[in-house]
Amino acid sequence: MTTTTGAPRPAPLPLLVLGQGRDLESERGVECPGDLPAPSDPGLVERARAAKAALGERVFVLGHHYQRDEVIEFADVTGDSFKLAKEAAARPDAEYVVFCGVHFMAESADILTADGQTVVLPDLAAGCSMADMAAIDQVQECWEQLAEAGVAERTVPVTYMNSSAAIKAFTGRHGGTICTSSNARTALTWALDRAGEGGKVLFLPDQHLGRNTYARDLGRPLEDCVVWDPHRPMGGLTPEQLRDATMILWRGHCSVHGRFSVEAVEAARREIPDVKVIVHPECRHEVVALADEVGSTEKIIRTIAAAPAGTAWAVGTELNLVRRLAAQFPEQRIAFLEKNVCYCSTMNRIDLPHLVWALESLVEGRVVNTIAVDDETSRFARAALDQMLALPGETAKD
Ligand code: SF4
Repeated sequence: MTTTTGAPRPAPLPLLVLGQGRDLESERGVECPGDLPAPSDPGLVERARAAKAALGERVFVLGHHYQRDEVIEFADVTGDSFKLAKEAAARPDAEYVVFCGVHFMAESADILTADGQTVVLPDLAAGCSMADMAAIDQVQECWEQLAEAGVAERTVPVTYMNSSAAIKAFTGRHGGTICTSSNARTALTWALDRAGEGGKVLFLPDQHLGRNTYARDLGRPLEDCVVWDPHRPMGGLTPEQLRDATMILWRGHCSVHGRFSVEAVEAARREIPDVKVIVHPECRHEVVALADEVGSTEKIIRTIAAAPAGTAWAVGTELNLVRRLAAQFPEQRIAFLEKNVCYCSTMNRIDLPHLVWALESLVEGRVVNTIAVDDETSRFARAALDQMLALPGETAKD
């Protein structure tokens, strides 16, 4: 997969149009004044209800926590990506699984559901900029360069759920595991153990989750981490840096969580009496290091739900979820951590018009926007997902 010059090949265009995969800056979340997108025509609510009632048990609607309220209203179950994939797998009688989330989640649902089930993503433009930051050609080229440097055979890949099916399959082929934000610590411990003395982990595609898990959760030195930049020859690293590293972090990040800042944490502490700062581990290490609590969306929800009334929170995760938490727990004082961070623009492409279109199409017997992973990819991706499910004590957390 290397070019004759040794330079990295340009990544193929991602499936979904998100800045065309060439200008990562263009894939960042847009600036916004801290508000959610305007709700869609309320007249569509009745149409969504009618279509869902007509489909009955034939359809199962999954809603990610970062979806709009108008979409969540029609979800049979809500959760983060892993919980939703498992929920999809647990509904073998549903002919159609309508996934209100983003593309990689719908792929995971297709991998984990039975052959006769069809997964539908109401808007195919609902991608994830983080997942797009690791294209399969780039990852294969990285692996070949690690082999040339003599380290691939001692390297175990650990891939975050937020990745394409092709990268999950790469992970399965090379004996690695998938992880989520709630089981990353266990997954990384397993992988380091498997890599053995002097071995390494290639962590894909979120550098922040990899770094935070290694340094914060496992208490290991930051200096063991290097960042592989897929746009530079040899990832921008020297053979010595590669040989000395334990964690090779892919240069990817979340366009939303990567924008929470140290300044925002400091401002929250100044402005909100007795505030507790809780952030997602996709945030940058400096931000995570200053927070009182760090955890997956499911952990954030559990922590806030269990806190005494009157607790003040500054929450560093997606805006739809923070607003919903504020409405659900009025006895708590819940604020969005960063004024200049937007909702996840790709998640929010799924809106009521797209959901109504998908449901009404199914009622009319037309299956639209099917997400189907080919058998070969599915088999190896499933192996990496199964490895995650086999990690000790972590199968039921999300
Ligand atoms: S919040 Fe971040 S990781 Fe999640 S779908 Fe949006 S861009 Fe991707």
